[in-house]
Amino acid sequence: MPCEVAARFLILYGSQRGQAQSIAEEICEQAAEYGLTADISCLSNQDKYNVDSEIRPVVFVVSTTGEGDPPDTAQKFVRKIKNKSLPHDHLSHLRYALLALGDTNYADFCNGGKTIDSLLQRLGAKHFYATGHADDGTGLEVVVDPWIEGLWDALKKTFSGMSASNQTGAARSDCTQDNNHKNESGQEKNKSDLEVDLHLLKLSEVHSQNEKNVTSDSSEAETPSTTLVASLKQSVLPLSESVLKVPALPPSYLEVVLEQASTEGETVPSGKDGYHEVYISKAVQLTQDDAVKSSILLEIDISEQDVAYQPGDSFDILCPNRASEVEELLLRLDLQMQRNFAVQVSLLKNSSKKAAKVPLYIPQNSSLQFILTWGLEIRSIPKKAFVRALADFTRSSSEKRRLLELCSKEGSADYNSFIRDANVCVLDLLQAFPSCLPPLSLLFEHLPKLQPRAYSAASSSLQHPEKVHFVFNVVEFPSCPEHPARTGLCTGWLVDHVSSILQPLGTVPASECLGTSALPKVHVRPRPSSTFHLPSDPSVPVVMVGPGTGVAPFIGFLQQREKEHETNQEATFGETWLFFGCRHKDKDFLFREELERFVHNGTLSHLIVCFSRDEPDAAGTVNRPTYVQHNLLLHAKNVASILLKDKGSLYVCGDAKNMAKDVNDTLLEIIGKELQLDKLDAMKIVAGLREEKRYLQDIWS
Ligand code: FAD
Repeated sequence: MPCEVAARFLILYGSQRGQAQSIAEEICEQAAEYGLTADISCLSNQDKYNVDSEIRPVVFVVSTTGEGDPPDTAQKFVRKIKNKSLPHDHLSHLRYALLALGDTNYADFCNGGKTIDSLLQRLGAKHFYATGHADDGTGLEVVVDPWIEGLWDALKKTFSGMSASNQTGAARSDCTQDNNHKNESGQEKNKSDLEVDLHLLKLSEVHSQNEKNVTSDSSEAETPSTTLVASLKQSVLPLSESVLKVPALPPSYLEVVLEQASTEGETVPSGKDGYHEVYISKAVQLTQDDAVKSSILLEIDISEQDVAYQPGDSFDILCPNRASEVEELLLRLDLQMQRNFAVQVSLLKNSSKKAAKVPLYIPQNSSLQFILTWGLEIRSIPKKAFVRALADFTRSSSEKRRLLELCSKEGSADYNSFIRDANVCVLDLLQAFPSCLPPLSLLFEHLPKLQPRAYSAASSSLQHPEKVHFVFNVVEFPSCPEHPARTGLCTGWLVDHVSSILQPLGTVPASECLGTSALPKVHVRPRPSSTFHLPSDPSVPVVMVGPGTGVAPFIGFLQQREKEHETNQEATFGETWLFFGCRHKDKDFLFREELERFVHNGTLSHLIVCFSRDEPDAAGTVNRPTYVQHNLLLHAKNVASILLKDKGSLYVCGDAKNMAKDVNDTLLEIIGKELQLDKLDAMKIVAGLREEKRYLQDIWS
């Protein structure tokens, strides 16, 4: 019987910052290669799907946000399947696979996906393929790529199973797979044959390109590969001669028209996104000029805004892309003359991309320069699909081959070293591959939304009414073969932005010297924390661990406690411990005077500080504590007693990559020792502390 419909499955994604969405789209696009048809929807579009009656296999791709929560777009769905009145077999018809995204630098790894997974299981839904847990800390693709690769076989088996049990979808599936697995002479092919065909196709495509370009590329004379070292631009054996399995070319779906017309909407996102434009009333350098990192305190004036916050909350700060990088990008795309043209973006007719949408973060009728400055994260690391698409706009055959290698399965290690780990952005690729000239629409399709950066409030409004303080390190990335030296996008911009009012420690605040008109402005949006606050009962003891700029929220906590001490002298206050660390006592001991004042007036019971790079003093303590976790160990008995006997709270803030993990390991050690428990049981106690919200983290990488 003729069969016209491919085996269908459904992809549902819950994305916070676009990662889960782009992986879901990648799966959707690859499906056709395997003779399958995928429908795709965001979990928030509940009118587009219904798991209660879904007979197609469903693939979920779910990221994690906040404190281990499912993304905002999945919240409604979670509430729906969390409904306790649903019977335990409510979803017993549902066959699904789930890919959870997370970051092991944070507690509750992949918890967004895990939550949905366990709720689906509770309602009787069945896995047709094991759940994948991808780690952004080590590179999502390490798990994502093999997981997607295995998905096709699992789907095939599921469709066969459904066919055996006589379901409609499966009948479609089988005949479609037959169709797709037959070659021109009608012979059966299996999946690996298809893969081989694909390899050969890709290779012959590249080889024929090579041949075509052989004269134009005669300048690119090959050096014997034995003398070469791999780099972004150059591969070595065996990759340089491998047959490549490259991802499917993502279908283009946007049409971009540039018109010489007046532009509108040129304002930085404001009111409707919850942003407030505020003055920066003060900027103070907190570190000596010769400190390894430069830390800066900013004070913003919120007196004219309806903004309330508590110590422990953060604020999003909007920052633009660097003007010089936007300029270079315009130059490289040959669009400098059109920088002020109005941009119209629409969906390409007949695009094969599923659920294609014009990105909302690209405002219509704004100028090209504005969009590249405020709309798109031009520093983002290009995904493999983007690299694949760029290859098709690359004239030189050797450059095209290299781009195909970088996005291929065989070139995965090179992609990791020369793109992901080197933090290469699209501009770096365009500089490294001069014959690549993509259309603007390709950048609009692949560059994600420019994200605000979050900063913890380092003040209490009791102490600084109508003001908020932040403290940040200027992030610096040294030059490397893949890109020139650069500063972090937001911190680099902020330091330039406040240069006219930046003062060394101890001088008069700028706003007292300058009229407000001379003050720089910034767009901020409160980002309240649901848990990272002082206990409501002041008699509860607290342990705070915040090295470097991680001390920020604790300055807010202590300012609040200091004021509460002053205004309510009768109240009982629990002990407060602060474990702080920096490199050098005399160069980067942030808030030193303020912390000493807190100790002096009894707001802070114990200030425990370590300096990781100072030479031991003359007394020369052997085994001097270097990092905060060493001091925690030295005070293990007190820490354990606060947490286990006095029902106190532990707060950790700062670097997610090393510090938070080391502190967590130390906590396990302390609890294990104090309670004479093995590691597993100590882990259960620590998990209990987290559950009771008495072990709280505000960490970033
Ligand atoms: P980006 O340009 O975004 O770069 C940041 C990261 O990108 C680097 O850490 C690195 O992993 C990578 N990267 C980018 N380019 C390169 C490159 N060329 N080489 C190597 N790596 C590269 N920070 C503070 O200082 N103080 C705070 O109080 C604070 N509070 C926070 C609160 C929350 C809730 C969160 C989520 C984060 C907080 N942060 C804080 C971190 C802050 O939001 C920013 O991430 C940080 O300031 C860096 O921003 P940036 O734009 O300057 O750097």
